[in-house]
Amino acid sequence: MKIGGFQKVSLVDYPGKICAVVFLQGCNFRCPYCHNPELVQPERFSERIPSSIVINFLRKRQKLLDAVTISGGEPTIHPDIIDLITDIKALGYCIKLDTNGSNPDILEKLILNKWIDYIAMDIKAPINKYDFVVGQTVSIKLIQRSVHLVINSKVDYEFRTTIDWDLLNKADLLSIAIMVKGAKRLFLQKLNQNFSQRVITTDLEQKNAELPEIAEELSKYVQTCVIR
Ligand code: SF4
Repeated sequence: MKIGGFQKVSLVDYPGKICAVVFLQGCNFRCPYCHNPELVQPERFSERIPSSIVINFLRKRQKLLDAVTISGGEPTIHPDIIDLITDIKALGYCIKLDTNGSNPDILEKLILNKWIDYIAMDIKAPINKYDFVVGQTVSIKLIQRSVHLVINSKVDYEFRTTIDWDLLNKADLLSIAIMVKGAKRLFLQKLNQNFSQRVITTDLEQKNAELPEIAEELSKYVQTCVIR
């Protein structure tokens, strides 16, 4: 298992729960605002952490931690993600999966077997701009299938969109809300320019000031649209 990082405790990575976070190496997207390039670009990968170390730690912390978040990179590109998740689930933890939604087959397996308890799926762009925003050729059918699976599952979930105003505009955000129409939650995440791998040309403060009005408009399509 390609574990590139392990955070022993987090109060912010699982809604309402104290969790540990497992970061897996590798991603099939190349978002320019990625927070974790050291988990995406193979030349920046650090030495892997054996899964036995993670499992042993979690075994000892069963009374102190509620949950484990599986993040990345993109966790679902690893076929052995199933083994890791079932091993952690067997210890009694709730599991949150962070995913870009590009692998609905794995997602479906995790949902149907009740191996995950919360899904945070990124919606990177409206359909026509996906490749442009993530820097890779993406199968939109796979993304759409994941959206459908998540909305129709009994697993708690959120969709989230990072707003890089150099890449997305208001009309794009509207298209995203329509793409996940009926969803329980859509989070609009402000870009953290410290993580951007290129110079931001837009006045972020000015553009972000428009977000409350945009969120209100998007709320016509989803149950909750929140800025964070
Ligand atoms: S999908 Fe996530 S991990 Fe992969 S490049 Fe984009 S932001 Fe980074």
